[in-house]
Amino acid sequence: MKGFLHPEEGQALLDSAAALDSPRPAVEIGSYCGKSTVYFGVGCQQAGRKLFAVDHHQGSEEHQVGEFYHDASLADGSGGINSFDAFRATMRAASLDDTVVPVVTKSTTFSDVWTHPISMLFIDGGHSLAAALADYRAWAGKVEPRGLLAIHDVFPNAEDGGQAPATVYRLALASGLYKERATVHSLRILERL
Ligand code: SAH
Ligand code: MG
Repeated sequence: MKGFLHPEEGQALLDSAAALDSPRPAVEIGSYCGKSTVYFGVGCQQAGRKLFAVDHHQGSEEHQVGEFYHDASLADGSGGINSFDAFRATMRAASLDDTVVPVVTKSTTFSDVWTHPISMLFIDGGHSLAAALADYRAWAGKVEPRGLLAIHDVFPNAEDGGQAPATVYRLALASGLYKERATVHSLRILERL
């Protein structure tokens, strides 16, 4: 399946979501073709909660035509990309249509109208500093006490990757709102105090 997630990271998402004892919905920011959504969704399904999968499905900077992670099969015919059809097919194949609620819009647009506490948040959207900070600021405060915040692509060494997710991770710890729970490759899972 197309996507950007190590299977051990996926398993950690699944296990954390399944073990979390809360019926409140979970939110994923950045679903792309649904790789992480399958793991996260199966965990949520086991726990009896819904997962809102937020993505405008127009790709991040690195997915656009001419960029390193561009996938020509997702071309939308007018110079952009569209990952929504692939995402929907992935959810159907994984029998997750009754668990995963696709939200096809910008993360901050959805956060403007979403006022309820959530049980678990996974941030894997835009990786510019502005985008990662906007996602963190819009969503991290909505996680309920003892809920979880998962962040992908946290690279302690700048040679290994962009630093925006690592910045958000450090901010979350420094805020006093979150403590470290688990590290699996570039995935960090934090618990809301
Ligand atoms: N979690 C995915 C990979 C996500 S790639 C996997 O497991 O494969 C990042 C995704 O974030 C892209 O699909 C892009 O469209 C989306 N994205 C980037 N900025 C966004 C924003 N502001 N709001 C919603 N989605 C965004
Ligand atoms: Mg990622």
